Amino acid sequence: MATALVDSFGRTHRDLRISVTDRCNFRCTYCMPEEGMAWVPRHEVLSFEEIERVARVCVERFGFDSIRVTGGEPTMRANLPVLVAKLAALGVDLSMTTNGSTLRALAGPLRAAGLGRVNISLDSLRRDRFAVLTRRDHLAAVLDGIDAALDAGFSPVKLNVVCMQGVNDDEVIDFATFGRERGVEVRFIELMPLDADHAWTPVQVVPGERVIATIADAYPLRALTRGSDPAELFEYLDGRGRVGAIPSVTTPFCSRCDRVRLTAEGKLRNCLFAIDETDLRAVLRDGGSDEVVAAAIGASVAGKGPGHQIGALSFVQPPRTMSQIGG
Ligand code: SAM
Ligand code: SF4
Repeated sequence: MATALVDSFGRTHRDLRISVTDRCNFRCTYCMPEEGMAWVPRHEVLSFEEIERVARVCVERFGFDSIRVTGGEPTMRANLPVLVAKLAALGVDLSMTTNGSTLRALAGPLRAAGLGRVNISLDSLRRDRFAVLTRRDHLAAVLDGIDAALDAGFSPVKLNVVCMQGVNDDEVIDFATFGRERGVEVRFIELMPLDADHAWTPVQVVPGERVIATIADAYPLRALTRGSDPAELFEYLDGRGRVGAIPSVTTPFCSRCDRVRLTAEGKLRNCLFAIDETDLRAVLRDGGSDEVVAAAIGASVAGKGPGHQIGALSFVQPPRTMSQIGG
């Protein structure tokens, strides 16, 4: 019998985000440095069996019903469909966030292994700009990956767009049009201070509200009720699908956050912006029973704060980059 994992602010946790690798074939400017990233050594990365064990404890002991596979770039992890099959057997809503560049080869095997949904990250539809933002000239592969995800039968396919002032905010309508034409749900994300260079400033953030107003001028929208999803969702009045904004900076989701994150080397993080972590790998490799693993997860969530304080004088950016945390 599962017991709800409730923190001291009354939030029930049911969503596990698993970073299966810290490595990536891209170097997005707001996520990773161009060079000099110190990768977690192989023997320190959790095995598939260790990841499955943490996931199973979350599902069986605490009733988690949602697992997202992320990274780094999750498709860089060898034999990912084998892990996906293990996680799918837990009977949860299983999804993945990916840069999409390898989906032509992997979308079919991942779907066959039981992956339910896929979010693809793409910040520019222009080849030159894409190459600057990701430091890789792979736009064609990502666009093909989106098609591959649709061909494989993933539904819905969602597109994550980090919208940045003076960088790609002139592509909002292009992305909305792309989503309407391809049948993918575009979600605009506000830039968060999780970059390797610690160069984030508030002026780079394009408020989700402004993005939605821009789209509504071109394509009339109707707001949908905000559920457990951090996205504020809208549907096009002409029936051509949905679009959303994730205003993590201007309208934080923290008071309804139901997530915990597991890093590639087995650290449990109770918040994207957490400074402290729980070393679950040590518990697993010391031979801890399921009770001990569950107790460590419970203690981590019990210590969760009310939310991030971006913009406040007291805000401290975590030492990890987004690529080391998992989005
Ligand atoms: N490599 C995969 C990808 O790019 O989708 C998964 C990992 S990536 C860290 C997960 C998500 O985090 C992506 O959608 C990415 O755009 C987003 N992200 C990375 N750094 C961010 C930042 N500083 N602010 C907001 N979103 C960020
Ligand atoms: Fe890699 Fe994703 Fe980070 Fe880009 S956002 S560098 S694709 S982990």
